Amino acid sequence: MNAEIIAIGTELLLGEISDTNSTRVARALRDIGLDLWWISAVGDNEARIAGLVDQARRRSAVVITSGGLGPTVDDPTRAAIARAIGVPLEYRPELWAQIEARFRRYGRAPTENNRKQAYIPAGAVALENPVGTAPCFALPHPGGVIIALPGVPRELEYMLEHAVVPYLQAHFDLGAVIRSRTLRTVGMGESLIDARIGELEALSNPTVGLAAHAGQTDIRITAKAGTAEAAEALIAPIADDIRRRLGDFVYAEGQATVEEVVAQMLAERGEGIAIGEAGTAGEVAQRLSATPAAGQVLRGAMQAPPGPDTTAAALAEASRATAGPGALWGLGVVAVLPPEPVRLEIALAGPRGTATQTLGYGGHPELAVRWTGTAALNLLRLALLKRARGQESESA
Ligand code: ATP
Repeated sequence: MNAEIIAIGTELLLGEISDTNSTRVARALRDIGLDLWWISAVGDNEARIAGLVDQARRRSAVVITSGGLGPTVDDPTRAAIARAIGVPLEYRPELWAQIEARFRRYGRAPTENNRKQAYIPAGAVALENPVGTAPCFALPHPGGVIIALPGVPRELEYMLEHAVVPYLQAHFDLGAVIRSRTLRTVGMGESLIDARIGELEALSNPTVGLAAHAGQTDIRITAKAGTAEAAEALIAPIADDIRRRLGDFVYAEGQATVEEVVAQMLAERGEGIAIGEAGTAGEVAQRLSATPAAGQVLRGAMQAPPGPDTTAAALAEASRATAGPGALWGLGVVAVLPPEPVRLEIALAGPRGTATQTLGYGGHPELAVRWTGTAALNLLRLALLKRARGQESESA
């Protein structure tokens, strides 16, 4: 299944106007997944248009013309298409009635010339053009269809959306593919994400939806279109927009976990990490050690009881010191859970000292450890990003 476009008008060939109509049609075809193979332009000459239409309809299932549907002798598209297919022009009283009615609404009377516009090729289906006077039509033939649209861009756009796309979707098996892309975020709650991208969640194609996990929220962008490329083209600008709105909160695309991303970042820099945990049953060390880059980056892991004197900073520093020079970073995590008074604390010890964060958690207690682990890994991720930017600007 392929399509082609023929732009009709001597003005195009004289370089007086640009062929924006073909661009419009091309985009509409792309969006419904119909492959466009040719775009050509021809002057207002019946024989040449007929020759081109005849060639086009032999090689393309869908041929769309623009222009030349007016009431004057320079508007030869109707006759040319009839000639290409070998059918006569046929007078359609109902089209004439529509033309008269439209003129009446503008307070004018149609001329005898306008009657020409009520002639369309025999066998054609009239496509009503409520925004102009030239009726458009679709002429089915054994190899496909020829669709004639007006030259006036505003009319062409209207007809594309309201008549052509529905016609093609109804008469051809264009199929539809669904594609989706997931942007993974960490460190920003679902409701804050909602506040930043809420208006995108109201879109219909693509759709944008959120799925929250412990400390991490996925944004899924899903598009439906005729081809995978068309669906991707719908997704790309929305994904870029979301990345702009959320910045570093987006940590990956696809399925990568925070620990995978962090381990990969460390591996690329040749830096090591040691983990010190209390009250987490080794959650963070386990998550990191399950990543493909673990062997290159995990330099040590220790656990301590979560007593009142155990701080995340002390664990970060102790694990870093114990692991030796191979560990540029030490990550400390403390999770004290009910029935004790809740205390969730994370700290990162690195080349420029130690930073601690105390976290406020309002979720289900069962998820608190995982949530805290994710926050700790994200603390490390943000420090790595910041350090990389600092090094870039120093070397610049
Ligand atoms: P109508 O009867 O409504 O005037 P028509 O089908 O006869 O429509 P044309 O006379 O071919 O259309 O073109 C009308 C105007 O539309 C042109 O003067 C030009 O400004 C614009 N136009 C025509 N073709 C194109 C094109 N391919 N791209 C952009 N503009 C176009």
